[in-house]
Amino acid sequence: MLTSFSLVADNATKIDVDSANRIDSLQSLLESTSTIQDKNEIYLSLANEYMKPNDSLSLVYCQKVLQSNPSASNFHLGKAHYLIGLADVNENEFAKSVHSFEKAIKYFELVEDLPYSELGSSYLNLGRAKRFAGNYYLALKNFTKALDFFNEADDQQGVAGCTNHIGIIYSSLGNHDKAREYYLKCEEIYKLYDDNEGRVYLLNNIGYLEEEAGNVDQALQFYGEGLDLARSIDFVMMEIHLMSNVANANINAGNFEKAEQVISKGMQLSKEHETNRLYQFFKISNAKLTLKRDESTKFKKEALEVLDYAKEKEFKFLESVTENVLKDMYLLEGNYKQAYYLSEKLETEKDSINSKQVSKELAFLDSKLKYEEQLNVERLVDQRNQFSKKLIYAVSLFLLLTILLSSYFVRRLKRSNDILKDKNKLLERKDADLKKSSKELEMRNEKLQLYIESNTQLEKFARATSHDIKTPLRTIASFAGLLAKRIKPKLDEKESEYLSYIIDGTERLGVITSDLLNSSVHEEAVNLEYFNLRDLIDNNLQDLAYVIQQTNTKVHVGDLPLEIYADKIKIRRVLQNLLENAIKYASPGISPVICINCRETELNYEFSISDNGIGIDRENHEQVFKTFSRVHDSSQDQGVGLGLSICKNNIEKHGGKIWINPAYNNGTEFCFSLPKEYKSS
Ligand code: ADP
Repeated sequence: MLTSFSLVADNATKIDVDSANRIDSLQSLLESTSTIQDKNEIYLSLANEYMKPNDSLSLVYCQKVLQSNPSASNFHLGKAHYLIGLADVNENEFAKSVHSFEKAIKYFELVEDLPYSELGSSYLNLGRAKRFAGNYYLALKNFTKALDFFNEADDQQGVAGCTNHIGIIYSSLGNHDKAREYYLKCEEIYKLYDDNEGRVYLLNNIGYLEEEAGNVDQALQFYGEGLDLARSIDFVMMEIHLMSNVANANINAGNFEKAEQVISKGMQLSKEHETNRLYQFFKISNAKLTLKRDESTKFKKEALEVLDYAKEKEFKFLESVTENVLKDMYLLEGNYKQAYYLSEKLETEKDSINSKQVSKELAFLDSKLKYEEQLNVERLVDQRNQFSKKLIYAVSLFLLLTILLSSYFVRRLKRSNDILKDKNKLLERKDADLKKSSKELEMRNEKLQLYIESNTQLEKFARATSHDIKTPLRTIASFAGLLAKRIKPKLDEKESEYLSYIIDGTERLGVITSDLLNSSVHEEAVNLEYFNLRDLIDNNLQDLAYVIQQTNTKVHVGDLPLEIYADKIKIRRVLQNLLENAIKYASPGISPVICINCRETELNYEFSISDNGIGIDRENHEQVFKTFSRVHDSSQDQGVGLGLSICKNNIEKHGGKIWINPAYNNGTEFCFSLPKEYKSS
């Protein structure tokens, strides 16, 4: 026997539900992608998804990437060749796969910062292809390189793949102890990473090793374990592969019946899963079984067909297995020449495998691996030391930070406590101030009450006095008038001037007393009713008809609301005061012009009464509404400064406001508002 025919774990994935979903989303992503680089990325992912279940589709996507050259990146080209190489292996095109992996490596080497694992996988698979093609020396060279890259990347599963293959080479050289050593290393890693696929390959290889060492029972035990594991993870290809080895071991052990069963089942399975390569193994096992059990060369033709297949695919292992069977067939037939020819060929090949070059390479690799292991141990110790150092550092840093933070927080807490105390003191002080102000307010309130009372008394007194004065005043006025009529023509200029002073004074006193009588500032509630404002204004104007005529006053009345709901008497008094003032405070020598208007807002009616008189300075706009306040203090004026305060009182009783328009500068414009809906104030 020349070699084991172990496979190696590769990147291929089985199509399962997840994979189908991934394919769907990749396809839809492809439609929305425009750049070549992105497209290539997706093509490669699709190629990866299709690998094994549909190698030809996988190849189509790889070709698309290659076609996009020279725009494609070196990494994508390398990856495409790598995947083509894997598909070639799946299709048993070993010679082709060698070229594909070589090209992949060529492109990968041009990529800057390429992950070492990518190069490692390429070299590993190249080595694997070389081994299939029977070139052990080159296979080893590539495994060594792959191992370097995987170690560099700290990719333990990659390292396991390499040790597995090196184990196979030792096993092929007949160095069973060394092979076991490598397989053991490999198994440790697979166990650590829970890599069941890897373990299936390994059990197959160990089984083969034991078979080679003559321990058939042990070999069958390992194969059996491998078969169980392969079935449990649904790894059909390796299941068939293991069955082929089980068949062969049974033939060698003389268990022909068992071998026959396994062969027929294996043939059926390999046909179902379209694996021609494995089918060839069953064909040759069947030929071997018939030869051994029945001493018949019945399947010689089939054996020759298998040989052709192995040669065409450059599958050295299958070739030598087949040649071994054919050699025995020729011996049985008595065709010693052919038998001798084949024996010699097989011996030469065995020698070539055992060549010094391979042994040297292995010795070199061995020491390298040992050195690597030593380095790993040292690295581990170093890492552990560094970790403890880091841990100590981190813990001290943490402690330091905690101390700093807690002292910071304590200080902050103290500070906010101090601030709180200060604020508390301030509050206490403010509280005392407030109590003081409250007392002052109470006192002022009392004073105000007293003031209001005395004011009311005063008003009452003023009205009572005016009332009492009214009758004698009227007597004085009428007799003064009569006297004037009678004696005026007899009086000289000075005497008649004195008399007119008496009459004017009496008239003025009459106005003052009637104002005082009408100044019911604090009394009476409002009596609301609907009335026509226009009619009310007409009444007012009629009352003033004589003065209007004398002063040549013009009155313009704009649009007014038809009806308002208010106290008619109070509003009449307001209008009367404002109209009288407008005439009273006319500019000397200019006839008064009065405009009455109204505008409606959402809630109020706003009335305005403007004149072209002497106007009121801005700073007195508030002042004039106060009781007894007069801002043009001329002896000519008749009045006591009560009119506007009565207006203010009457309007505010309705919940309205009165003011002087500050923007009006052609005299004075009084404005007052009345709510559309009366609310008791
Ligand atoms: P009076 O009895 O003095 O007219 P009012 O309360 O009616 O009292 O007016 C207060 C003061 O406001 C007046 O003395 C006058 O100086 C000023 N005043 C009132 N209306 C006008 C007006 N239309 N034009 C100019 N000044 C006015």
